[in-house]
Amino acid sequence: MGSNIKVVEKQGEREGKKLVVLVGVHGNEVCGVKATDLLLPKLKINSGKVTFIYANLKAIKQNKRFVEQNLNRCFFKKQLSDIKQSLEGKTAEEIIPYLDKADALLDIHASLTKDSVPFVICDESNIETAKIFNAEKIVCNIDKFHPGSTDSYMNLQNKPGFCFECGYYNDTNTQNIAKKAIISYLTYYGCIESKIGISKNKPLIIKIIDLYKNKYGPFKSKRYFKDFEKMKEKTLIGLDGDKEVYVDKEKVVLFVRDRERKDEECFLVGEEF
Ligand SMILES: [Zn+2]
Repeated sequence: MGSNIKVVEKQGEREGKKLVVLVGVHGNEVCGVKATDLLLPKLKINSGKVTFIYANLKAIKQNKRFVEQNLNRCFFKKQLSDIKQSLEGKTAEEIIPYLDKADALLDIHASLTKDSVPFVICDESNIETAKIFNAEKIVCNIDKFHPGSTDSYMNLQNKPGFCFECGYYNDTNTQNIAKKAIISYLTYYGCIESKIGISKNKPLIIKIIDLYKNKYGPFKSKRYFKDFEKMKEKTLIGLDGDKEVYVDKEKVVLFVRDRERKDEECFLVGEEF
C-alpha cells in the first residue's frame, strides 16, 4: 500500500508549539479539506510548527465516510490485529507518529444530522481551552464510548485533543466554520496572530453518559432527532429489531442513526453538565 495521507508542514521562524490539524478523517466530511485548501497558500506561521494532515485520501477521493472501517476508531497505542490489517488501521499507523510529536490536536469533522450546529468535543480537563472555538456547545466524557478516536488518543497522553464538528456536512458554510476553528486554534497556541477572540456567550456543556449500540437487529429511528435534542418526557428513540429503545426525560440525544448491521453506534445520550 502507498501512503493514504498527505502531509503539509508549516514551520515558523521562532520556537513554539507543535500542532497537528487533521482533516478528512471521515472522507465525506469535506469542510476541513476545503478549509485547509483555502488556508494553506496564504498561511504564514510565526512560531512553532503546524502539521496539516489530509487523513484518509482514498475515502476523500471516493467521498465516503471510510473505505474499510471507521478511521476515527483506529487510534490505539497497541493496535488490535483486525484493525491493523485494514486500510484505516494502516492509515492510523501513518498518522500516529505525528500525534506523538504534537503538543495539541485539532480534528475537523461535520455531522450527518441536518441542522446540526457547530460544537467541540474534548476532555473535561480542556473545557476552558475549548471556549476559544466560540461554539454553542462543548461535549465531554465521550472517550470511553468512542475508544480509538483521534482526540481520545491525545487525551490518553494528557495532551489536548479537540474534535470540532462544523455543522451539517452538506452545508457549504461548514468550510468557513472550519477555517475559523483552525485560525482560533493556531492563534490560541501562538503560532499565528489574528483578531479572533473569545466571545462572552457561555457555551452549554454536555456530558456524554451513554452510547446505544443495537443488539437484536437493525436499528430504525422513530423519527428525525436533532443533535442535542432534549427529551421532554421519556421518549421512544427507535426500534432495535423489535425492541423499543427509550431515553429518559431531560436527557439529550446526539447522532441518531439508522443501522443495518448489529453492534453499530446508533446514538449517544448526554446531559447538561
Ligand atoms: Zn466525522
